[in-house]
Amino acid sequence: MQIQCPDYVLTAIKLLENSGYEAYAVGGCVRDSVMGKCPNDWDMTTSALPEQCFEVFKNYKIIPTGIKHGTVTVMIDTHSIEITTMRIDGNYKDNRRPESVEFTDRIAEDLSRRDFTVNAMAYNPERGITDEFGGKNDIKDKIIRCVGNPDKRFKEDALRILRALRFASVLGFDIEKNTSESIIKNKHLLHNIASERIRTELIKLLTGQNAEKILTDYCDVIFEIIPELKPLYGFNQRTEYHIYDIWSHTVKAVAAIENEPELKVVALLHDIGKPEKFTVDENGTGHFKGHPAISAEKSRVILKRLRFPNKSVDKICKIISLHDLRPDGSEKQLKRWCGRYSAEIMLDTFKMMKADSAAQNPVFYNDRMKLYNKCEKITEKIISEKACISIADLKVNGRDISSLGAKGKEIGNALSFLLDCVIDGKICNEREELLNKAKEFISDKNF
Ligand code: ATP
Ligand code: MG
Repeated sequence: MQIQCPDYVLTAIKLLENSGYEAYAVGGCVRDSVMGKCPNDWDMTTSALPEQCFEVFKNYKIIPTGIKHGTVTVMIDTHSIEITTMRIDGNYKDNRRPESVEFTDRIAEDLSRRDFTVNAMAYNPERGITDEFGGKNDIKDKIIRCVGNPDKRFKEDALRILRALRFASVLGFDIEKNTSESIIKNKHLLHNIASERIRTELIKLLTGQNAEKILTDYCDVIFEIIPELKPLYGFNQRTEYHIYDIWSHTVKAVAAIENEPELKVVALLHDIGKPEKFTVDENGTGHFKGHPAISAEKSRVILKRLRFPNKSVDKICKIISLHDLRPDGSEKQLKRWCGRYSAEIMLDTFKMMKADSAAQNPVFYNDRMKLYNKCEKITEKIISEKACISIADLKVNGRDISSLGAKGKEIGNALSFLLDCVIDGKICNEREELLNKAKEFISDKNF
């Protein structure tokens, strides 16, 4: 089987092979090519040692990215390509990383240290695909299977547990029985893994095509990394609005929301505060008053722990705190919300509201979608018209108001009053009208 490698990869392979070394494209790029997909990036492996790579690529920019593990990065035609010397990993410590690595010139040995059969293939244009572990077959059968003994492989590096779920979600594959059983058995080892590595894999899992199935089938693994989600499992909401327990609802909301990483996380965590806020009224109906605020608070703790960037934490928590707002569909209300929270946050909040509806009792779906679509349209109009939605947008400022004789707190009150008048359509955002209205306001206050 021939694979279409980009020219810069062929150049790198040729330069290494002409110097007497073996060189291959390896891992994800071979997997994606066999699947007929366009790879994100091309990684290579070679029998050349890092210092020998420096000699081979002496006419190119080459950076020692991770010399201890044998990785260099070479720039060819504006593309950067990671080249790692074939290696055998030594004993692993703390379920995380090998104590030492040993370089080898046998491709089969390098492939045997890789996580899954579908990721353990190499390609060389002369020699074709090296597939020692049945990767091609597993791609055909859509299966994620560990290379070697799953227990041993997950104990070596517990992140592979989450990587298995990630690849199953992204590729739409099933997980082979022994690998699957071993994932459940060893899930506690994920506690030894750095938060950043967990975050990266979790986001890829959530944005995968099969996230709904994986979150359902492997919820115990997810609860291992975010234990705060566990109380949602099987929680009966006792309200006509819901036909699913909170966890099933959550999973469906994740599947329904637009495929953007931060929004997927919003959907995953939006109801995390519900169990704490659960009350049952005299009719036996469940309520969760105040749950968005608690959900946002708990999410902040989780996202900090998983080391999400502060900007993402703020955005995700803000949308969660607003996801249960009840829009009336009026422009006035939307202008006030856009002024308070920003139009961009409101648009994302409507996306969450739509996903929420898609995961609730379908009886209410059509009416809610109509309302949210209308809100989105109005919000987009507010953005495109650069509508006046905050005090900063008014054509008068504090100095203008103070020159009319207002002092201290009164200035702010007058500006808020003017903004209300403009939003309610009582006056236009024009200097003269605003100043006249401000005069009225100030004199009313003084008598
Ligand atoms: P993507 O398309 O997301 O980049 P990928 O398969 O290239 O997928 P990477 O995380 O970039 O995934 O890893 C590159 C390759 O390195 C993998 O295909 C696999 O062969 C190997 N690999 C990565 N992480 C591990 C690990 N924890 N244990 C064993 N092998 C791994
Ligand atoms: Mg990759």
